[in-house]
Amino acid sequence: MHNQPQHFHAQAEAALADKELRANFRGAMDYLRDKRKTAFADAGEESAIRDRAEAIRRRCLSKLPELLEQLESNCIANGIRVHWAENAEQANAIFTDIIQSHGGTLAVKGKSMVSEEIELNDAMAKEGITCLESDMGEYIVQLGRETPSHIIMPAIHKNKQQVADLFAEHVPGFEHTLDVDTLIQTGRRVLREKYRTADVGVSGVNFAVAETGTLCLVENEGNGRMCTTVPEVHIAITGIEKVVEFLADVPPLFSALTRSATGQLITTYFNMISGPRKENELDGPKEVHLVLLDNGRSQAFADEELRKTLQCIRCGACMNHCPVYTRIGGHAYGTVYPGPIGKIISPHLMGLEATRDLPTASSLCGACGEVCPVRIPIPELLQRLRHEAKQDPAPGALPLRGQKAAASNTEAFVWRSFALATRQPALYRMLTWCATRLRWLIPRKLGPWTRCRTAPKPAARTLRELMAERNK
Ligand code: SF4
Repeated sequence: MHNQPQHFHAQAEAALADKELRANFRGAMDYLRDKRKTAFADAGEESAIRDRAEAIRRRCLSKLPELLEQLESNCIANGIRVHWAENAEQANAIFTDIIQSHGGTLAVKGKSMVSEEIELNDAMAKEGITCLESDMGEYIVQLGRETPSHIIMPAIHKNKQQVADLFAEHVPGFEHTLDVDTLIQTGRRVLREKYRTADVGVSGVNFAVAETGTLCLVENEGNGRMCTTVPEVHIAITGIEKVVEFLADVPPLFSALTRSATGQLITTYFNMISGPRKENELDGPKEVHLVLLDNGRSQAFADEELRKTLQCIRCGACMNHCPVYTRIGGHAYGTVYPGPIGKIISPHLMGLEATRDLPTASSLCGACGEVCPVRIPIPELLQRLRHEAKQDPAPGALPLRGQKAAASNTEAFVWRSFALATRQPALYRMLTWCATRLRWLIPRKLGPWTRCRTAPKPAARTLRELMAERNK
């Protein structure tokens, strides 16, 4: 049983008590932050790249329905079969149908957070289909029966000792070593063999180009290329927000993504998939499918402010700079997407009733918004979601899934009373006078508020009295 967002507080406390986990994250986050800093050495250039990336994402989202239709028709023209899935269940049914129609039992999978979102591996296992992760981090996580703890570095919570122990337990013939190159070669050797025997290759999509019907895939290991070219059938899955209008939109987004994610100016591999193998071609899959998944994204899209969530290009920079994520790691959130991006996207994917604690797990320091390459105003969106978790929808607005799930009558009463008192000067004066004179009545313990704080105590005199005295 994996962690759940409903148990965020307990999971965060457990993570904080795990010294090894904290040390692993500390080292990894410092490394990624330094890499990003080097890639954006020139502040003017950084600002220009972010401005351009933001403008592209906003433009594409403003035309999302039309671009999705255009993408579908151009993919079909290229020979790519397009499927639409409203939720995880539908997406998994599409995968099952395709794989079983080929009598398949083994799929190799490149890195795809959307496939994590639909829990593809578990769903396929129930149908007797093995889904083998081929990204090294994902492979390590799969061996440990865990979920990714970071959206671009799935096994970042593990150190080399832990990886070596896992290999020793699961990889036949592995001789225990802490040599990182040997560890990587070991994983590669196992995976290479699987590409040849797999019936289907599965991948994610970083950018789906409406203008040409091209699927772009960014990666560093070459496993994405193997998954999309060696097996006879390739199935790509992506969220509906990943569509871009023009091919020319890709390079600026690609540059913003790689610099922000790993501090690279360009990744080792960049794949452009534009259809199945043609008659005169020697390699490539005979069939290419594209699964376009909604899974709550339409809810975010329907609201102009919350739509900004969909600008995300999944670089992970907000996580690497978040003082909460860097201390508790990814698993504590209990969601597929952890950290700041997880806090703003998960309420749409899972509903506010399940994720209501996540938007509050932020100091609102603003670091996430300052590094986001597409300038998503994450702190503002967190405040909006906090509000939506406690309030009725604004007049005329569509309710979010789980709207008002965190509403508390006691809290509502306190805030209504506060609002009433601050609107009536005479009442406010009387209440503050009472609070100063009866300060000894304030209890020392005020529930969870005082678990790690001292209870606030009113001053002996009101500010008004002190000022009147000073001005005598
Ligand atoms: S919200 Fe911004 S910083 Fe975070 S993953 Fe998405 S694009 Fe990157």
